[in-house]
Amino acid sequence: MASNTYRNGTSSHKGTIKPLAASNSSNVKSSSIKSRFPPSSNHSPGSAPLRRSNSASFTAAAGGSDGLPGRVRVAVRLRPRNAEECVADADFADCVELQPELKRLKLRKNNWESETYEFDELLTESASQKRVYEVVAKPVVESVLDGYNGTVMAYGQTGTGKTFTLGRLGEEDTSARGIMVRSLEEILANVSPETDFVSVSYLQLYMETIQDLLDPANDNISIVEDPKTGDVSLPGATQIEIRDEQHFLELLRIGEAHRIAANTKLNTESSRSHAILMVHVKRSVLSAEDAIPSETDKSSHFAKPPKPLVRKSKLVLVDLAGSERVHKSGSEGHMLEEAKSINLSLSALGKCINALAENSAHVPVRDSKLTRLLKDSFGGTARTSLIVTIGPSPRHRGETASTILFGQRAMKVENMLRIKEEFDYKSLSRRLEIQLDKLIAENERQQKAFNDEVERINLEAQNRISEVERNFANALEKERLKCQMEYMESVKKLEEKMMENQRKHRCDGFMNDKCNGEGASFSVVDDVVEVKKLLEKEIHMRKEAEEEVNKLKSQLRQCTDSGEGGDSEILNLQQALAEEVRQKKKLEEEMIVLRSQMLQLTFEADQMRRSLGRNGSTNAYNALESPMSQVRDSLNGHKTPVTTLFEQVGLHKILALLESEDVNVRIHAVKVVANLAAEEANQERIVEAGGLTSLLMLLRSYEDETIRRVVAGAIANLAMNEANQELIMIQGGISLLSITAFDAEDAQTLRMVAGAIANLCGNDKLQAKLRSEGGIKALLGMVRCGHPDVLSQVARGIANFAKCESRASANGIRSGRSVLIYDGALPWIVQNANNDSAPIRRHIELALCHLAQHEVNAKDMISGGALWELVRISRDCSREDIRSLARRTLNLSPIFRAEMRRLRIEH
Ligand code: ADP
Ligand code: MG
Repeated sequence: MASNTYRNGTSSHKGTIKPLAASNSSNVKSSSIKSRFPPSSNHSPGSAPLRRSNSASFTAAAGGSDGLPGRVRVAVRLRPRNAEECVADADFADCVELQPELKRLKLRKNNWESETYEFDELLTESASQKRVYEVVAKPVVESVLDGYNGTVMAYGQTGTGKTFTLGRLGEEDTSARGIMVRSLEEILANVSPETDFVSVSYLQLYMETIQDLLDPANDNISIVEDPKTGDVSLPGATQIEIRDEQHFLELLRIGEAHRIAANTKLNTESSRSHAILMVHVKRSVLSAEDAIPSETDKSSHFAKPPKPLVRKSKLVLVDLAGSERVHKSGSEGHMLEEAKSINLSLSALGKCINALAENSAHVPVRDSKLTRLLKDSFGGTARTSLIVTIGPSPRHRGETASTILFGQRAMKVENMLRIKEEFDYKSLSRRLEIQLDKLIAENERQQKAFNDEVERINLEAQNRISEVERNFANALEKERLKCQMEYMESVKKLEEKMMENQRKHRCDGFMNDKCNGEGASFSVVDDVVEVKKLLEKEIHMRKEAEEEVNKLKSQLRQCTDSGEGGDSEILNLQQALAEEVRQKKKLEEEMIVLRSQMLQLTFEADQMRRSLGRNGSTNAYNALESPMSQVRDSLNGHKTPVTTLFEQVGLHKILALLESEDVNVRIHAVKVVANLAAEEANQERIVEAGGLTSLLMLLRSYEDETIRRVVAGAIANLAMNEANQELIMIQGGISLLSITAFDAEDAQTLRMVAGAIANLCGNDKLQAKLRSEGGIKALLGMVRCGHPDVLSQVARGIANFAKCESRASANGIRSGRSVLIYDGALPWIVQNANNDSAPIRRHIELALCHLAQHEVNAKDMISGGALWELVRISRDCSREDIRSLARRTLNLSPIFRAEMRRLRIEH
């Protein structure tokens, strides 16, 4: 806005007060407008914004280019008639008439003449205290809160309402509160108790002496002027920080009481002194450049800290001595010391205001203490409001007129408002410290967040790794199972094929063109019949030969009886006899062979019948898989042909055939012995007759694979018996079996050997020997064959051995790691713990449970992966007894328990 029009000193109005011609309106009696101001809307009460002026300040003190021009604002308040006036002036009109809407005041000269003056505000006799505050003081108070100095001053004749306007406490009726109370109320409502300070001093100026109304003893306070800034202050005055409005009211009351007391003592009255209330406001603010933080400032913790500034401002409220004294002292020529002193300040104020209003070069500020104190209020940097109080009585018309003229002159005084800001270094350091602390805390927070994040990522990575590992292991396991399945499948197919081939082959062998089971059986029976016939023929021939021998013997006797000359004949006969004996022996031998052949054939026929009847496996050595079943068969039914033949031929003769030079004879004999050994009833007899020794000798000679296989089978059968087991050991059977295990390739041979060793493994007494004679190594070595039947026997052996070991450990007979672990069996055990073949799996599961029962094995088992298998067994094993054995075993072992805790395996 370019309306820089608040100055009285604009070109059109500059100069002395000039009565203007009355308007040409006939109904307006003689009147003149003493001064003129821009439209009221531009400086409406209450809003009172500070506006910049294009023109430079004409005041002496306000020379800074950074200030805002602000004219002293003047309001006139008319007191209502008091009781006395109502009576005395009853017949007279008031000497003033207010036209508040026009901001004009008419001062009547007489009944027909009046003079008109314009003021900033006109407050009629009915104006409320609140309105007076808002119009006169509020803009000044707001400026003080903004950091400017401010002054509100009441000027007027005694009894016109200066104290009423400024100093009323309104204790009973709050609407009666004056400007002092209301100003403090507003200030207190707008400052922050944490950062701002409000304090007051209350003084009286009487006869050029400043007294402290808050501390009466302090009755000569000097004014101190800063030589650099020219600021005046009263360091000697009591300055009390205000907590709240009540506190302030209390101080005002105290001040008022002291004022009355002081005046009584001095024998004077309050209208002769000036009362000055100084309110000091100290506010912390941000410097202007920091007030609007930039985007980068907001985001950065390292933004420059705002400059801490303190704005010190001062509100001065002055209840002046009655203005009549100025005039009295002058006009009435009173030269009394008192009058001079009292009025000195007031007349000096008038002079200063005149000088300022007339833009005079010299402003006599130093003439009085009042003008020195108010140096800043008129022509200084403060925002100043003057309230001129007048009474209505025509009797005081002269006083009222001069008061009005004072007000008119004051309106011409222009101040240059300036904010006083200081750096608050203490608060700067405090703020920097706070900011530093915040930054440190933030840094710590970020560091923690960073560490947490790193930890989280680590954990996540670990989880992912273990998940991938798990998935990988699962996939591997699946793949392994799949491969195993495929392998089993193909083995099964091969076996089926082999069986098919064998069956075909057998059909071809036993029947020339027909090929069915019954036919095969018949063909064997035919064979048996044929052999029987042959045998009968032989027997018949033998009988004939015997008869012939007897005949010859009787002839010989006759010859011996009849004469002597028959020596040569005797010799011939003797020779013939020897020939006959030799032939007989040969025939006997042949007969035994034939019988054993028949025995074997009978057995095979028997076997064939049984297998066809069962419609199951056609394994040639099924007898070994379940020897007891055969025993049962033989016991339940009538005697088998084998047993019958065995009785006919005699065990000794059959065993003797084991050493026959003829390979075929040996093979037949071995088969017979093996079959006999399958029956428990025969076992003892066989061993007693030296069969075991013969069998072991045969195993040692091993020139024929078939013999080895059958011998091993026979030994395996015999090894089922505990007494035999020890005999086998004593006769070096363990090492013999071990040697066979190492160099045999035929799966069935290996199966027999493994079965034999597995039986020996179950004997507590043989444990040490089994190891020292290589039995365990041999057993483990046979897994190379891979045939499930062999593996099953190996697993059985391991389980038996582990069981004996755990029994020995439990009884305190042995200590230390398991021989099985020592000999490297653990990897195979772990690998096959979940083998698809149920027998293998079951034996291994048992073996693991036995091994786990001895704590010394635990570490090796954990490192070898056996713990996982044990856990699996304890959860998934289909056999309840093994499952609970595994569970119990795991629970009993502190090492396993610790490992499971570490691996977070729930058990
Ligand atoms: P001063 O301080 O100017 O000498 P005071 O404030 O003591 O005058 O007022 C004189 C008397 O007039 C007091 O009794 C006061 O109550 C009364 N008075 C002053 N102004 C008003 C007003 N506006 N309305 C009613 N009474 C008033
Ligand atoms: Mg008074």
